[in-house]
Amino acid sequence: MSISENINSINKTLSAGVKLVAVSKTKPNEAILEAYNAGVRIFGENKVQELTTKYETLPKDIEWHFIGHLQTNKVKYIAPFVELIHAVDSLKLLKTIDREADKNERIINCLLQFHIANEETKFGLSHDEAIALLDSDEYQKMQNIRICGVMGMATFTENTEQVRNEFRLLKNIFDKLKDRYFADNEYFKEISMGMSDDYLIAVEQGSTMVRIGSTIFGHREYC
Ligand SMILES: *Cc1c(COP(=O)(O)O)cnc(C)c1O
Repeated sequence: MSISENINSINKTLSAGVKLVAVSKTKPNEAILEAYNAGVRIFGENKVQELTTKYETLPKDIEWHFIGHLQTNKVKYIAPFVELIHAVDSLKLLKTIDREADKNERIINCLLQFHIANEETKFGLSHDEAIALLDSDEYQKMQNIRICGVMGMATFTENTEQVRNEFRLLKNIFDKLKDRYFADNEYFKEISMGMSDDYLIAVEQGSTMVRIGSTIFGHREYC
């Protein structure tokens, strides 16, 4: 199947409230343009250098999302244009994003990443760490970031019940934070969860944003 056929069949399974982030990491501009011509406008990347090169060479109405682990010393390269940073997992990173956004006279949208998987290797905050971050004076003073919701990755497993429980946990964390900190905040509404192998379960559990790579573009040579 072609890229546009893949996109059409994914779109048929997504309800109107769920945004598709086409994860184009490692893929060339030609492949991205094919998805673009099929109507996709949101693309996700996880390497700063690759993202900036693609931003410079591809149509300017693309919304670029940074979905990977972001090092503080690289925030400055994407701060001028990035639309959403999915994986904020520390106060230090959030402070850096706030400062770089200020330098660019803009507000940068962010999601808090939570550790929901049963795996050591996945980054993310615990519920308590997020509370500490949101209660901190430093966070309260930030003027140039906007927290728009939460993000998480489920364990890589065939066990769909486990995956379902992990996504349910993330939805639960979202609801609690919404109640406690963002009840009157119209921006705090996104739950970024679901990838090629598990997005249907994620959508069933309340995902508002799925990040899909290989089901659109085919398998990657490397990560
Ligand atoms: C690579 C990646 C994806 C997409 O993975 P696929 O299995 O190819 O759909 C989604 N989210 C993150 C954070 C990724 O790094």
